[in-house]
Amino acid sequence: MALVAHDAKKDEMVEWVRRHRRELKEVPLFATGTTGARVMEAVPELDVTRLKSGPLGGDQQVGALIAEGALEAVIFFIDPLSALPHDVDVKALTRLATVYDLPFACSPSTATLIIERLSPIEDRTENLDR
Ligand code: PGA
Repeated sequence: MALVAHDAKKDEMVEWVRRHRRELKEVPLFATGTTGARVMEAVPELDVTRLKSGPLGGDQQVGALIAEGALEAVIFFIDPLSALPHDVDVKALTRLATVYDLPFACSPSTATLIIERLSPIEDRTENLDR
């Protein structure tokens, strides 16, 4: 699974990863540079491969992973309130995810549906005590 978050959404990504750390621990994770740094700092036990920063080619690396069939899902928390930072990268990833019919979440609620679907059901019950 790949994790990407625009700057205004990185806190939400960290919060989402914390909330789903048990399920995510079972999943090999890729993340763009800054998102990955924030995630690893918040939940060091996760297996995260950091790519380049998104605007410097990290988003393209995620695209390559999609094309290679190396991902089961992309979680890209997009900032909807500003002109999209490096909009072309977002478009390219959305397009590739659609070409390969890969689950693609732009916000936490959809990301949660995806991680719940990918994880064994017994892992989910552990999150109910929050
Ligand atoms: P970043 O990239 O994690 O390196 O900030 C995210 C993005 O694509 O905007």
